[in-house]
Amino acid sequence: MILETSYDVIVVGAGPAGSTAALYAAEKGASVLLLDKKREIGSPIQCAGFLPDASEVQALLPDARLPDTLKNYPHSCVLQRIDTQRLITPNCSIKEFAVRGTVLDRRRYDQFLAEQAARAGAELMIKTRVTKIEGTTVETSGSFGKQRIKAKAIIGADGPNSLVAKSKGLALRPESRVTSVALEYQVRNVDIDTSALEMYFGKDFVPGGYAWIFPEGRDRANVGIGIRSGMAEKGISAKEYLHRFMRDHPLAEPKLKNGIIMNVIAGIIPVNGAPEKTANENTLIVGDAAGHIFATNGGGIPPAMIAGKIAGETAAEFAAGKSRLEEYDRRWRAQFGSALETSVQARQLMDGIMKSDTLMNAAFKLISPEQMKVMQCGKLPGPVRLGLQALNRGKK
Ligand SMILES: Cc1cc2nc3c(=O)[nH]c(=O)nc-3n(C[C@H](O)[C@H](O)[C@H](O)COP(=O)(O)OP(=O)(O)OC[C@H]3O[C@@H](n4cnc5c(N)ncnc54)[C@H](O)[C@@H]3O)c2cc1C
Repeated sequence: MILETSYDVIVVGAGPAGSTAALYAAEKGASVLLLDKKREIGSPIQCAGFLPDASEVQALLPDARLPDTLKNYPHSCVLQRIDTQRLITPNCSIKEFAVRGTVLDRRRYDQFLAEQAARAGAELMIKTRVTKIEGTTVETSGSFGKQRIKAKAIIGADGPNSLVAKSKGLALRPESRVTSVALEYQVRNVDIDTSALEMYFGKDFVPGGYAWIFPEGRDRANVGIGIRSGMAEKGISAKEYLHRFMRDHPLAEPKLKNGIIMNVIAGIIPVNGAPEKTANENTLIVGDAAGHIFATNGGGIPPAMIAGKIAGETAAEFAAGKSRLEEYDRRWRAQFGSALETSVQARQLMDGIMKSDTLMNAAFKLISPEQMKVMQCGKLPGPVRLGLQALNRGKK
């Protein structure tokens, strides 16, 4: 129940970015209100739930300061431990590398994160939608009726279609927005390798993206596709592509043929990086709202939480009169900004190549499994960059 009509910090959105921001702002002594429009935190899920272990994230992003909740979380949030990542090329050859991580139950994990924020002192208000933002006053509607609540700082952690970013002129311009459309099923009765993430490529199954099988237990999996709608065949929907993958892919079909679909999940993934400015004098944006997502694989949980920690700390310092909010922008870019930009460059290079399975097979030949691994988190080794550029030139 809301107790105040004024806070130091209002955080809009209780996903990984918002709950992490609220936790760190509250720990630094700010009064914090954390709002989410969902009636139950984390539900419906909009994620496949893969989270690399903190040691993997730290090795790939050495300058990042990871929040504790990315390192330690209850075992009940874990659906499956992973030790291998396997990539399947259009001609069905296989490359794989070791990766330690978990497939999370995102509903439980998001609830854990929101609970940590609340235990640190943030007030949590669910089923409350922010409908309008004027200056630093937000208007809400939902379970607690219509309200106008004021803050010194607003943190927009409200996902890829962020109202906060749009209202404050912080969103990417429409012509710069590039998104993947993701559709996935939670499926039972599948015959899968339970310790491996599998990613499948090929323009007839997943134009401009990849299909995945992420294990969620002994005979359960999250099966999905992320496609770039602009690169899809005219008139073919994401659903048709996903069914085609499950029904016709020579390596996936035998694993999935007896699958029972239990849940349908859809969402969009921003894959063009962050806008030029992610903060102004009273507002900052974080997570998907700020394009904090690695464009090479659509992994958004680690960057959302790393930036969430910085957002919460900076907002609390600002509320105490110790820092300008714009510091946030410099701080997150220092921790993972160049990796984020490089992932967008890699995605742009791959866009051209993904239009042709022949080029895609050639690209896989020139990239070693270790190079593939580092590319996931925003590195583009020199020889790979040159090779991909050459393939792009060759196609013209
Ligand atoms: C299908 C799919 C699969 C994915 N798989 C993975 C994966 O395996 N691993 C990975 O790392 N990333 C994955 N991602 C990306 C990942 O889910 C996001 O990057 C991550 O959730 C970003 O966290 P966030 O807190 O910024 O946003 P979100 O998790 O989207 O949270 C935003 C919150 O804001 C709330 N909200 C929005 N508007 C309002 C409003 N007006 N008022 C109040 N509340 C509001 C929403 O209800 C939501 O709870 C996937 C994404 C999709 C779509």
